Parts: sequence; structure tokens; C-alpha cells
Amino acid sequence: MSFIAHGLKCTDSDCGLDEPHVFYRKADGPPSCPECGGPRKISWSHRRFPGVSGDGIGSFTAMDMGVFGRVETREDYNRVMSVIKERHPNSQIQVEADSQADQQQRADEARQRAYERRQANSLSDKMMKEIKEERKTVAAEASRNAVRQNHDPKPAATSAAKRLASPAALATGGRIGQTGASDA
Ligand SMILES: [Zn+2]
Repeated sequence: MSFIAHGLKCTDSDCGLDEPHVFYRKADGPPSCPECGGPRKISWSHRRFPGVSGDGIGSFTAMDMGVFGRVETREDYNRVMSVIKERHPNSQIQVEADSQADQQQRADEARQRAYERRQANSLSDKMMKEIKEERKTVAAEASRNAVRQNHDPKPAATSAAKRLASPAALATGGRIGQTGASDA
């Protein structure tokens, strides 16, 4: 169960109650407005960092603010927020702490993607091997037939193999290697 502290602003235009520091269960979402019962959304328009009312030593959690770099102190943070406010005077800035659960989820997703990539690669490796084997078999057979008919076995084997798409062509949809079949 995780809790979160945010500034919340009532979305009702007549009410517009702006509370700088509301604690609530993250899973439940922002609680409705105590004044009018309307829905509220996260708001930083009050320019007060939520969660902490005073600036005790070490109370500020350093964070990465993207293009603004990492901020270590509340002074840095306030300066960055002022810059953002200055550049985007009409937009509301929503800041949410990066929870441990979020980080865990990103790590899990990255692991899953890596796993899927590995699976896909090993599958195509296996297919390439099988296709190569099949081409070899077909070429050998054509070579034997050519010899039986007193023909040169080499070109017969080559053209027989060419009639099958190469492993690279199959793996890349014909972008690399012979696509075969066209001259069959
Ligand atoms: Zn309200």
C-alpha cells in the first residue's frame, strides 16, 4: 500500500480549492474536494513542494529533472520550477515521485524485452540452420541426378539450390540474399 503527497486543485472552476499538501493512497487516486465534492487533480500552481512543509537539513530528495539535470537542493529545485513556469506560463506542472514500484516495473519490462529478443534470435538461428540443411540436400540430389545423366554436377547443384530461397533471404524477407523461386 503506497501513499503519496501532492498538491491538489479542485477541477470545479467555481470552487478551485488549491491545497498544497494532501496525503492519499496512490491506488485510490486523489480524494475529492472537501469544499464542493468535485474531482481534483495534481497541481503545483501553489509552487510549494508537497510532502514536506519545512526545509529541514537533508529533507530534500535529490532528483533527476531531465534537461535541467539533477537537482540536489530545494533551491535548485525551485529555480528549475521557476524556469519551467516562466517558459510555460499556462500549463500545469505535475510532479510525481518515482516510486520503487515504478522502478521495479521498468526493470521487469526491460528484462522481459531482453528475454523476448533472445528467444526470437535463437528461433531464427534454428530456422537458418534447417534451411541451410535443406538447400544442401537439394543441391546434393541435383548433383547426383546430373552425374547420372552425364551432366556437369556443379551448375546443376547451384541452380537447384538457387530455386530455394536462401536462409538470409527468408530471414530478411528477401532484402538480403537470393530470394530464389523467381527463376524456377
Ligand atoms: Zn471544490
